[in-house]
Amino acid sequence: MLNLLRATRSGLRSCPICGEEILAEAVKCKHCGEFIEQVSLDEKEACWFCRIVLGLVVVILILGVLGFVFQVNYLAGG
Ligand SMILES: [Zn+2]
Repeated sequence: MLNLLRATRSGLRSCPICGEEILAEAVKCKHCGEFIEQVSLDEKEACWFCRIVLGLVVVILILGVLGFVFQVNYLAGG
């Protein structure tokens, strides 16, 4: 676990097959020759959900500001 953390910091990660250090963006391990899943694929899927939540928060904030502005205009005009 400590080795994995140290490896991630320096742009490296451990091969899940042989445990040797490889580049974080490596598709194939240079030590054992096995193909490895890209870590970025998992991050993309996590971000997909985060973006929807963030988008909803932004829309709610914008609607709230617009509602406040319209209310002020209505009170000032009426
Ligand atoms: Zn390997």
